[in-house]
Amino acid sequence: MGDYLIVGGGMTAAAAARGIREVDATGSIAILGEEPHRPYARPPLSKALWQGKPEESVWLELPAGVELLSGRRAIAIDRKERRVLDDRGAAHGYRKLLLATGGLPRRLPYGEGRIIYYRKLDDYRALRALKGERVAVIGGGFIGSEIAAALAQNGKKVTMIFPDSGICARAFPRDLSDFVTDQYRKKGVEVLAGEGVKDAGVTTASGRRIEVDAIVAGIGIAPNVDLARQAGLQVSDGVEVDESLRTSDPEIFAAGDVANFYNPALGRRVRIEHEDNANTMGAAAGRSMAGAPTKYTHLPFFYSDLFEFGYEAVGDLDSRLQTEAEWKDPFREGIIHYLAEGKVRGVLLWNTWGQVDRARELIGRPRR
Ligand code: NAP
Repeated sequence: MGDYLIVGGGMTAAAAARGIREVDATGSIAILGEEPHRPYARPPLSKALWQGKPEESVWLELPAGVELLSGRRAIAIDRKERRVLDDRGAAHGYRKLLLATGGLPRRLPYGEGRIIYYRKLDDYRALRALKGERVAVIGGGFIGSEIAAALAQNGKKVTMIFPDSGICARAFPRDLSDFVTDQYRKKGVEVLAGEGVKDAGVTTASGRRIEVDAIVAGIGIAPNVDLARQAGLQVSDGVEVDESLRTSDPEIFAAGDVANFYNPALGRRVRIEHEDNANTMGAAAGRSMAGAPTKYTHLPFFYSDLFEFGYEAVGDLDSRLQTEAEWKDPFREGIIHYLAEGKVRGVLLWNTWGQVDRARELIGRPRR
């Protein structure tokens, strides 16, 4: 029987392996992942790799001696025997198990095989290999906004299509979202806001036909909880974990996009789909698994690059909340506070750097 088994081979898994090694220098660690690759950083796939960074820069460091079981899908957990079964019929024993299974892209009811649901290294490679110039990007959230900018900067003719009023409208206040949408148009991106797609032809909901060479979609992800459900673990929006990142089975932990945890600063359970959460939560889970229980109280930050604009952000970036903007230069540099019940719930640092800790401190305050 192995000591530590990690299911899922992404950023959370790599961070967990490092976390385990901080505490346990010799225990065996195996990472079982569906993708045929070793763990890699996902953020560069929609950012740095399109700005000239080489593909090799994505590979993540792993501690020595980690066994990689790549290209295998875990299909069941036998909690009694403490082993995981994979799709090749092999069984992998564990003393402690981590579920770092991430999320699966939501899919559209058409265009199977034609649409690139942009999430993996192989999706990046497929898009890089594209011969044609015209790309439709469905979705105006994180993936849609980043990949549309990246493609446009690489000479592609991009049409964005999404149901919201503007780019990142769920996160940015209306005026900032409108400004960003306008900037995309000025950079040559055709933005069809408030618009749907009927088929992979591409026909829009209002009946327009758009000829494209590729379709990329980023319409959100759903936490990959099948394995946890099958094993009878507590699952709600994600796999529920306690403050040491244990699931309802004390020998099984969960971290990253798939984990649902209590965050003290926000005062509620959350599930966070960003890099900082994958790294810090993965490492904390690894330490907890190795016998050094680590309370996970971190409020992760996230960041993005959209043409010459960039931001860092913390907490609830929900445009339905009341917002207050302090602009140094309107829509070009400033800070937006998201407020609810007299408290700061989220902070958007727009082209403003080095203030993440201060933003966290504001969100942690009992009153504004
Ligand atoms: P997302 O940010 O949730 O955005 C989803 C977008 O798709 C929204 O604009 C949504 O519009 C739209 N949408 C939903 N259903 C649609 C449909 N049927 N047709 C057209 N548009 C539809 O998710 P994502 O961009 O796919 O990103 C996936 C994950 O990667 C997320 O977890 C994200 O956090 C992560 N990620 C993070 C970063 C970063 O931190 N910088 C970068 C890339 C990816 P409505 O709002 O109207 O539903």
